[in-house]
Amino acid sequence: MNCDETKLIELTRAQLSEAECDTVIRHVESCSTCRERLQVMVALEDLYRNQTSAQPRRSHHRLLGIAASLAALCLLPILLTFYFSSTPPDWQSFSTKDPYPYFPLQVRSLEPPSPPSHERAMQLYSEGDFQAAAQHLDQLPKTPDNNFFLGVCLYLNTEHERAAEIFTDIILSSPRWADAARWYRANIYLRQSNPHQALDSLEQLIQGETEFAEEAKTLSRKIEEGLRNDSSRQMERDEIDTRKP
Ligand SMILES: [Zn+2]
Repeated sequence: MNCDETKLIELTRAQLSEAECDTVIRHVESCSTCRERLQVMVALEDLYRNQTSAQPRRSHHRLLGIAASLAALCLLPILLTFYFSSTPPDWQSFSTKDPYPYFPLQVRSLEPPSPPSHERAMQLYSEGDFQAAAQHLDQLPKTPDNNFFLGVCLYLNTEHERAAEIFTDIILSSPRWADAARWYRANIYLRQSNPHQALDSLEQLIQGETEFAEEAKTLSRKIEEGLRNDSSRQMERDEIDTRKP
């Protein structure tokens, strides 16, 4: 028998007699072209059956048999190659081409962690990621710039104790950042419920006619107002206490 696509179609549709069927299968066993064609037809037939959920046709079992024997025929050369190849597979070549071939895609697409740099830290700072910016700045050399922004990040992350230490150090050692550090130091005193020391820091900013003078005046007024209200409330409480028997 020569290659005949019509016969293959008839085979998958179970339209051949038993004898014709055997002839076609014998040809398919020896002809790789027809074997491939038949494989595609069987696969398509299977797909069609699954999609339509139709009742299995009369040819179904016979087709499955053909598919199974085709699969065995196609696998045999591959298996033989594996069993009888004189050189073992080169396992080393499996691992080196792709460093993490089995990682999920989203993990593989992540950038490797970049070494901390002032630029990266400032980028994180400008993006508002003060936690990550602080982690970066903490690993950088303690230059005045790095120190100041580390202090600001810690302050914004409400790590007031450490921020206060850094700003105190800056006030003593770095004229360029001293006024800004005083401003933040005052704000930390306030958050630590220490309004009098906050007022002292703000007073220095006002007296020195610094760029923070106006903000310092406004904040000072609010603090003094708060202290007056607090002391008048305290006086009321004291009066009530003294009236008690
Ligand atoms: Zn053929």
